[in-house]
Amino acid sequence: MNYRAYTLKTFKNIHQIKRLSEEQIFDIEVVGEVLPFKVNNYVVNELIDWDHFETDPIFILTFPQKDMLSKEHYNRIAKLIREEAPKRDIAIAANQIRMELNPNPAGQVYNVPELNGTKLVGIQHKYNETMLFFPTQGQTCHAYCTFCFRWPQFTGINELKFAMNQIELVIEYLKANPQITDLLFTGGDPMVMKTKIFERYIDAIFEADIPNLRTIRIGTKTLGYWPYRYTTDEDAQQLLKVFEKITDRGLNLSIMAHFNHINELKTDVVAEAVKNIRKTGAVIRTQSPLMKHLNDDADMWARMWRKQVDMGMIPYYMFIARDTGAREYFAVSLEDAYHIFREAYIQVSGVCRTVRGPSMSADPGKVQISGITEINGEKIFVLKFIQARNTDWVGKPFFAKYDPKALWLDDLKPAFADKFMYEE
Ligand SMILES: *Cc1c(COP(=O)(O)O)cnc(C)c1O
Ligand code: SF4
Repeated sequence: MNYRAYTLKTFKNIHQIKRLSEEQIFDIEVVGEVLPFKVNNYVVNELIDWDHFETDPIFILTFPQKDMLSKEHYNRIAKLIREEAPKRDIAIAANQIRMELNPNPAGQVYNVPELNGTKLVGIQHKYNETMLFFPTQGQTCHAYCTFCFRWPQFTGINELKFAMNQIELVIEYLKANPQITDLLFTGGDPMVMKTKIFERYIDAIFEADIPNLRTIRIGTKTLGYWPYRYTTDEDAQQLLKVFEKITDRGLNLSIMAHFNHINELKTDVVAEAVKNIRKTGAVIRTQSPLMKHLNDDADMWARMWRKQVDMGMIPYYMFIARDTGAREYFAVSLEDAYHIFREAYIQVSGVCRTVRGPSMSADPGKVQISGITEINGEKIFVLKFIQARNTDWVGKPFFAKYDPKALWLDDLKPAFADKFMYEE
């Protein structure tokens, strides 16, 4: 299959688009000016059910929807388009709106480490044992998720460039920090990069011979958006060989696969891709945020986890939606998130209960909502760090006042204390 991308400029060439009303097409044009928009022939032809596109989760996942912008923001762009305003004016208005949509949530840009006084802008090192690497060639994706919190990278407004290609600095940093066991390639989507380039990174790492490095992880949505990456792409077989080279060396290779809905698991090609990856000795773990309109359905999660296990993958994380971009559209309250997670979790056997969540990747760490309960007559949330800036916090329960409207950690007030432990 040849990859074909559709963007705001070209999506009207998608022949199924004829099913949309003029108004619906206009909505895509308006919202697509602000939020990232890119789909491809696989997503359009194999994943979306065009007979029910208005409620189709993959359509909502990839095509901008009117309600993803506030009325005021929508009208501002719509007016400019109707007036046939100059492209530049539309771009300026779109950028202003983006700045109002919290483009850098959870202190992401503050996790940039230093080495001998040099800022390593393609690295994040937040949790002791795991280092994130953003290779320059992996900062785009085969399609874009309408909820993506990395959208400032795609829309070009992020002044602070995350990406870098200096593998030497990555290696030096790994050597200088022997507590790091895991190197996570992330993006964007690092599997967008050609095998040749990925192999160069891996060879350099092998050559450096870093004893503390035990696991290579790759965060990717290719299994959802372009599984041909592991089947018929011209460098697919070579990529599988590189995977094998990693596992042959005795390192763990963990593919952190991003799936949002069971419909992404329905094609023959994704099943084949999973098989091919597993044959290399790699393990595939799965993760997804919980999003209204997309996957806020406990039964779907239970079916999705079961199907993932059937296919040979390991459910890993359910995340809570970050406060960025089309947040109002996608937000699920912490209370609802907890109930959806639990109702899904109780339906599956232990082999699926490797999944953890619902979890917020907040500034102090990954916070799990482990319960809603009553202590001394007070209704509370029971919380726990799965990961934390300070390892002392990990695994200790702590409490917040129950609040049915809370959407994120910073909406919560401590219970039985003046401060949360991470505020001291
Ligand atoms: C989630 C995450 C990791 C990996 O955490 P694990 O629980 O080990 O999977 C590493 N760094 C950052 C910044 C993260 O958000
Ligand atoms: S695949 Fe990941 S990085 Fe790419 S658009 Fe989706 S959420 Fe963002």
